[in-house]
Amino acid sequence: MFYDLIVVGAGSGGIGAALTAAKEGMNVLWIEKEALLGGTGVHAYVTSWQPAYSASRLAPTISQRLLENQGGHFIAQEKTSTGRPIFRHTDSASYSETLRRWIDPQKRLQPPVFAYLPHAFDAVITDLSKEVGHIQLWRNAVFLHAIVEKNRGKHFIQAIEIQTLRGKERIQARWFIDATADIALARSAGCLWTIGRESQEEYEEPSAPPRKEFRLNGWTLCFLIRPGQDQFTGEPGPGPESDWAHIGELPDGSYYVNLCFQLAGEVGQSMGKEQAREYLVGNIFKRWPRVREAYGLEGYGIYRFAPRIGVREGPRLVGCYVLTENDLLKGGFGRHHSDCIAFCDHAMDSHLPGEGCKELPNGPFGVPFRCLQPLHVENLLIASRGASFSSLAASACRLQRTMMELGEAAGYYVATGKISVIKRPPYQGWQI
Ligand SMILES: Cc1cc2nc3c(=O)[nH]c(=O)nc-3n(C[C@H](O)[C@H](O)[C@H](O)COP(=O)(O)OP(=O)(O)OC[C@H]3O[C@@H](n4cnc5c(N)ncnc54)[C@H](O)[C@@H]3O)c2cc1C
Repeated sequence: MFYDLIVVGAGSGGIGAALTAAKEGMNVLWIEKEALLGGTGVHAYVTSWQPAYSASRLAPTISQRLLENQGGHFIAQEKTSTGRPIFRHTDSASYSETLRRWIDPQKRLQPPVFAYLPHAFDAVITDLSKEVGHIQLWRNAVFLHAIVEKNRGKHFIQAIEIQTLRGKERIQARWFIDATADIALARSAGCLWTIGRESQEEYEEPSAPPRKEFRLNGWTLCFLIRPGQDQFTGEPGPGPESDWAHIGELPDGSYYVNLCFQLAGEVGQSMGKEQAREYLVGNIFKRWPRVREAYGLEGYGIYRFAPRIGVREGPRLVGCYVLTENDLLKGGFGRHHSDCIAFCDHAMDSHLPGEGCKELPNGPFGVPFRCLQPLHVENLLIASRGASFSSLAASACRLQRTMMELGEAAGYYVATGKISVIKRPPYQGWQI
């Protein structure tokens, strides 16, 4: 089997990549190890798009479809009876408002958020992939490793081996896009990569530690609540204590709850996912009763934990350009680069104790196309949170819509050979 392009991973980056490349006429094989499409948003119940600047062409179309089938809605900040902020359904919001967070160096708005139901999100992406044509979508298909050819100092991925329900298969393509978040394909292909916090010496980032540190953005297990008793109860476990949470209403009347910081990423990694999950569930049992009381949600109970732990950071590519805190501080839509393909203005936020949120003083920053390009593998691009960002830059540049923008740029490039430099956000959306 031979394809124009294989996209590995169907999270935000993979969605942008596969749909855009197919729309431009490429014959795409899209593989995803899970049964549902949507990646971290869907499997870790991070079912909302944080307000931030974004030039994604696809996100307005996805949100419109979700609005039409009651799978998504806008939520705005309100105060609960106890005075705590909570996000609840609003009829008076539009997609473009969700982008307007940054006003000037001193002022941030709290615009509405777009929230969606996991299964509805999967259904909309499935429909879009059918409508656009040219896509073979294989769910429950796991990328195993890359077969790389070396020719006069240049490296090309010739094929990849994957595990499907039918067994192992080797598949060839002209181009590959790694949208696995943890850059499984890029690492297997021998690309240069890194993990953890870079030292100040490396990129002269003002907030970097003097020496390289193995610190990773925090892990969180999100969960859903709805009116009624807790369906899950258990012994309170260890971990941080706090009665604050980010809570938002979903279109079916349930709420997602994100306790934000629960476990340092590097500690989670050393525990392993199974033990870390036990720890996170114990931490929820410790904190939820206090959160419930603090937010006046006495009539609500836990009815579902996310199937997957929310992991914010992992291995990252060291590519043709590394986005750093200095780019974030310069802001200005990344005008100091000529190849910006995405914008974002989320604060730097490591979800680690003692680090807090650091707002960016000069507006949205830009992400250069070179952050998607590995140094030595010619037919591979990265479209996920594992793209070529420093750890500090990644803490701001990892939102779902930003990852979708990376995917769109990667898909467009492999299909047309052109870099989709963005000057102004095309709010009007993405048409099939
Ligand atoms: C707790 C938490 C809260 C967050 N809050 C928000 C928020 O409110 N708003 C927001 O916009 N962002 C938020 N983020 C960030 C955002 O959700 C992620 O950074 C983003 O979804 C990452 O997208 P991605 O495409 O890089 O990776 P993912 O969405 O993780 O997609 C990677 C995909 O690749 C697949 N995959 C991996 N390995 C393989 C393999 N070997 N073979 C086949 N498939 C594979 C995975 O199953 C997955 O579907 C949050 C993140 C976390 C963890």
